[in-house]
Amino acid sequence: MEHEERELILELFPGTPPDLLPLGEILYYRDEASWIILVERGTPGMHLALEPVEGRLSAPQVCEACRRHLSGQALGFFRHRVGEGERWRYLVLCQDTPSCAEHANPSRLREILLRGILS
Ligand SMILES: [Zn+2]
Repeated sequence: MEHEERELILELFPGTPPDLLPLGEILYYRDEASWIILVERGTPGMHLALEPVEGRLSAPQVCEACRRHLSGQALGFFRHRVGEGERWRYLVLCQDTPSCAEHANPSRLREILLRGILS
């Protein structure tokens, strides 16, 4: 139902900014190169790719997507570019993306996605 609402709004008001639309289906997965991909289905431009960063976390931390408290081994650093040049935002996320996707709140995933593309 919610997804149909989104389509209707986009049809009537094509320029509506993504953060003002009802929440769509969020796809959250790893691609062939192990990058994390976040996509909101049906909304142009709602696509974020996060690059895995070498190195392990030494202490337990909270995953920024699913908010579970996990061992450092279960987590990793991922980054995306912020604006022009060599500025990066780093996120701590589960290594096991399918499990993370199962536990993550879709509106939290959208927050990460929006923060990534609007900065
Ligand atoms: Zn997680």
